[in-house]
Order: sequence, then structure tokens, then C-alpha cells
Amino acid sequence: MHDAHLTDPLEYLYEELPPERMAEARRHLAECPDCRREIREIRETVKQYRQTPRPVPPEGLAERTARAAIGEADKGAVGLLRGRFPAPARAVPPPETAEQRQEKLEEDFKRLKDDFRA
Ligand SMILES: [Zn+2]
Repeated sequence: MHDAHLTDPLEYLYEELPPERMAEARRHLAECPDCRREIREIRETVKQYRQTPRPVPPEGLAERTARAAIGEADKGAVGLLRGRFPAPARAVPPPETAEQRQEKLEEDFKRLKDDFRA
């Protein structure tokens, strides 16, 4: 019986098919020169891709991009975004004043004394 051609050559190459489908694929490859050629070509393409040096960004690109982004922000882009999103809720309560802190300490102390008497 001639199995259908490989439908997932990449999954086969990376051994990501379930075991029974890996076995099916191996059986099919043993008898199908077309699929063997396809697998060979994919392997060769992946190999060439991996050997291709990564392009190096031109000198100063990051700085130019950052400057351009800041320029856009100055033109009001940030203001536009601010208008679209509500200001974040204040997560941290404002710091207590010295008087408030003193009042709290005195209340705590009074409560302790009352508990002690009870
Ligand atoms: Zn085939």
C-alpha cells in the first residue's frame, strides 16, 4: 500500500509528529523519492539560512530611531495617547503627615492600655 505524501514535512523534520505518524512518515519516505527530495531540499534551505550571517544594523540606527520617536512625541503623539487612556489610579496612598502619624500612634497606645486594663 502506498501511503499519501508527507503533509507535514517540517513537523517530521523537527520530530514533532506523534510517534505513530513519525513511523508512517518514515515508511512513506522509504518508498517515495519525491518526498525524500522535498525533505532534502528543506534541510538544505534550513542549513543555508543558518549559515547566512545576520545583517548588522547601520551605525547609529538605534539613536536615530529614538530621536525620531522623541520628535513624534513632542509633536503631540504622547498627548494624543494620554487623551485615549485614563490616568492610572493612584496605587499608593499619599504619605501621612507627622501629625497624622502621631495621632495614630496615640490611638494605638490608648487602645493597648484599654486592652491591658480589661
Ligand atoms: Zn511522497
